[in-house]
Parts: sequence; structure tokens; C-alpha cells
Amino acid sequence: MATIKNLDARPILDSRGEWTLEVEVKLSNGISARASVPQGKSRGSHEARVLPASKAVENVKNLNRSLHGINPKNQAEIDAKLIALDGTPNKSKLGANAILGISLACARAAAKNKRVPLWRHLRSLLNYKVSKSKKPRLFVNMINGGQHAGNNLDFQEYLVILKVSNFTESAKLAAKIYHALSEYLQKHLGPGSAGIGDEGGFAPNFQNNIAPFAILKQIIARLDLKSKVAFGLDAAASDIKKSKRKFQAFYNDLFKKYNLFYLEDAFGEENFADFAALLKKTKGKVWIAGDDLTTTNLSRILEAHDAKSINAIIIKPNQIGTLTEALAVVKQAKKYKWKIIVSHRSGETNDDFIADFAYAVGADGFKLGAPARGERVAKYNRLLEIEREEN
Ligand code: PGA
Ligand code: ZN
Repeated sequence: MATIKNLDARPILDSRGEWTLEVEVKLSNGISARASVPQGKSRGSHEARVLPASKAVENVKNLNRSLHGINPKNQAEIDAKLIALDGTPNKSKLGANAILGISLACARAAAKNKRVPLWRHLRSLLNYKVSKSKKPRLFVNMINGGQHAGNNLDFQEYLVILKVSNFTESAKLAAKIYHALSEYLQKHLGPGSAGIGDEGGFAPNFQNNIAPFAILKQIIARLDLKSKVAFGLDAAASDIKKSKRKFQAFYNDLFKKYNLFYLEDAFGEENFADFAALLKKTKGKVWIAGDDLTTTNLSRILEAHDAKSINAIIIKPNQIGTLTEALAVVKQAKKYKWKIIVSHRSGETNDDFIADFAYAVGADGFKLGAPARGERVAKYNRLLEIEREEN
């Protein structure tokens, strides 16, 4: 039986040139595995605490012997131990980034030790079955605004959702729409308008907040892809100063003119009641999702459930800090019959763990940015590989 022998970490750069960390776990039989930790910019205030990368690295090194002798496949035991060693409600002592790096590296080591793809190992940690045909729809961030771009858009993510349950076809469609959009923007908004934001979507100035959807609608009609595409918006409303009435008017427009299918963080992160009113009004026709509202945190999702605020949830393992806790939120959300959307962060590395995670848990959606920038493309390419591994 292989057991954990050693933990190590080092600072590495993320896609914004900010410091994060990579953790390496070594097993007694010589197998080793690494994982790196993504970082958000428009973070929810209920997320677990991230420490400066240098401090997180030091903390991992100090934990070097604390998991010694544990079988890496015992994920729940590993994560429980990390939580106990931290001892705070929000992981502020060791840092959620230090803890998550260890948690993910252990999962990868366990998969390597079993000689199975990571997603297959992750499925062994679930208490439900995922059918082979269940693949998350890709939520492609075509246009970036808010905190992820320097342009004039208030809203953060203009999403194209591909209604196709095949990764290869989805990636082809994502690239096709992305290229057509690039051409359109350069032709109509000038040659500099194809510059990109933090998640790889284009980030020029627009006439107003609704213009990106008008352009996308035109392009999708021209490509004859209407039946395969839906629109979504991550408003990231906690970061926007607007009255409730203004938000509502904007969303009404989107429902009417663009048949909006998905709406994330429509209101500020404490406004459970406003979410609930929206959910009631849209009568289950729109996926009303929480991200900053719920922060992959069991107590927050209980609150959202009690208040009938949402019917969909964003899952980001680094919001909570361990794999086991992220899986517990997925399991609970499934019990509520909410749609599950697994998501990357705006600050990413080339680590593709999140692609295996999204597929493994049988998510309904996977938010992975645009098909551009190495750290985004790494996730697309991992999905293409998974599609081969599953047979
Ligand atoms: P973040 O944004 O990674 O910068 O927090 C992503 C999101 O809000 O979904
Ligand atoms: Zn969000």
C-alpha cells in the first residue's frame, strides 16, 4: 500500500502574473503528483481565506510530516485532518490556498497510484452514479467586462452556452463563434477591439451593456447555430453599484430579447430575497445561479435553499478549500435538484484538475472561459483527452 511520504510547495505565477502556489505530494512507492491553486478576483466575501503565496508555501512545508502514512485514496480523512490542523472556520490559519493545493495533489497522487484517469478516481469519491453520456455543457465566456477587463461593461461575463453534449463538437463550436466574433469586432469597432480580458473573452468598449448580446445574436444567426446555442450572463452584481430596479429592467430585457437561459449572481451576495423574487418570476425557465451568494459553502447553500433563492449553483473548490467539502456541496445541491455548474477562476494556471472534476461529478455546466490563453485552453484540451479516455 502506497502512503503519503512527503509534501512540498513552491510559489508559481498565475495568468495575471500574480503569485500562487504549486504543491507536490510524494508517496512511499516513489509516485508523486502536483496541483496548483487558482485565484479569483471578484471573490465572494464568504469564501475561505487565501494567504499570500509565500506564506501558504511555508505552511505546506511545515505540514510536511503531518499527513505521513495516510493512504492518498482516503480523501475524506486527509481533508478532515487539514481542517482540524487549521482549526478556524474559514481556513485563515493555514490558508485555503495551502490546504486546497494539498487536497488536490493527494487526489492526483491517488489516481496515479491506481493508474486511472483523475476523473475516474474522483468518481469513486461520490455517493451517486454518473452515466457515461452525462457531459457538462460548456459555458464559454466570449466577452469580458466588470473586474475582468478594463472596458466600459458593468457586467462581468457574457456567456455562450453550447447545447451539445460532446466535448469535441463543443470546442469546435466555441472556436468558430470566437473567431467570427473577433472578425466582427475588428471590422465594426476597430482593429484594437479584439484585445482580450482575464478569461480570454474580448474586451473592447461597447455602446452599452446589452450590445454584446446583440452582436452575439447576429453572429450566431449568421453561422446558423441558433439551435445549438443559448445565452448566459454572470452579472457579478456584488461588484456593481446599481439600484435593484435597474438590474431588474436590464434582466427583463435580456429575457425578452435574448431568451436568456442562465443568470449568475444577479444581485448582491447577501440579497437572498431578491434572488428568490427573480426565481419565482422566471418560473424555472431560467437557471438562476449563485456564486458569490453561495461560495461553495454548505451553510450558505442551506440559507439559499431555505430562502428559495436559486435553482443552480456555481462550484469552485477553491472557494471552500478542500475537495471533500466541494464534493459535499455538489451532493447537497443534487439533492435539492439544482443545476450544477463547475467553474474555473479568473486567475488560473495550466493545471487542468477542474476539467476532470467537472466531468467526474456529472455537472450540468462547466464555465471555462474562452478558447484562448494557455490557462483556459489547457481545460479545453483536457476535455478532449477525457473524451478519448472514457471509451
Ligand atoms: P473570479 O470570477 O474568479 O474573478 O472570482 C469568476 C466568477 O465570478 O465567476
Ligand atoms: Zn461568478
